[in-house]
Amino acid sequence: FEMSSSISSSVALLTEEKLKLLEAIARLQELEQQQKQFIGNISHELKTPLTSIRAYADLLHMYQDDPLLLEEARTHIGIEAERLYALIEKALQLSAMDIYDFETHTESVQISSFMEEAVSRLQGKAQLSDVTLEVRATPGYVWADPENVTHMIVNLLDNAIKYNKQGGTVTISNYVEKDDSDRNAWMVIEVADTGKGIPVDATHRIFDPFYTVSGDRSRDYGGTGLGLSLVRSLAEKQRGSIQLVESGPEGSRFALRLPLQDPDA
Ligand code: ADP
Repeated sequence: FEMSSSISSSVALLTEEKLKLLEAIARLQELEQQQKQFIGNISHELKTPLTSIRAYADLLHMYQDDPLLLEEARTHIGIEAERLYALIEKALQLSAMDIYDFETHTESVQISSFMEEAVSRLQGKAQLSDVTLEVRATPGYVWADPENVTHMIVNLLDNAIKYNKQGGTVTISNYVEKDDSDRNAWMVIEVADTGKGIPVDATHRIFDPFYTVSGDRSRDYGGTGLGLSLVRSLAEKQRGSIQLVESGPEGSRFALRLPLQDPDA
């Protein structure tokens, strides 16, 4: 009896191992597919601004005698170059995260000073877009990589300014949230804007790489469709999350959740 039970348990073990292996293979195939898609997308996205830069560069000598046309060509080349730069920078960050399972240097981060710092970095851009930035920061700590925290907040604020209306407002605030058991606690950082909101059928896609709402001004602003997917990857890396809480004609509100303490401690 002992022998047959040990055989049947080794059989069970074998099946379990086999299942795990099959799961791992399926996951690898899925990752490979995602990478192929990513490379396809990025090649396409890189070509668009380059084509435009090349065309304007060709036109420059034809425009030589017309300062207005020259200025227009210069502006377009500048915008497209900016977009190329943003694309390459974000794509590199995203792929570095996937490929090297990049290192995060997590520590206790005073969140209110990071919120204020991010706001002051974007003050110039907000003024140019006639948008008012409001900070309602409550002091408190999160357990995260300081550089990543800045990156996530700056990306959310940048969108909130970019997709706002003239004379609009962006408000960044924070509060502590605990789960029912009181064992887990998060800092919730909310970024709210007074823009035109995100169409309902697009809300589940905005965190996908390269996705931009069609007909949006994203492209005019050097948008890449990579900002929110980067925020999501970074948030998950710190065992946090990002969520679109609400969005409508009055504006949108995003919530970034980060752990208060080291989840491994
Ligand atoms: P992008 O570089 O285009 O801004 P993101 O990944 O940051 O890329 O955002 C994806 C898309 O989601 C944007 O193109 C835009 O259409 C939409 N979006 C993001 N944030 C907002 C916002 N605060 N208000 C309205 N639309 C937004």
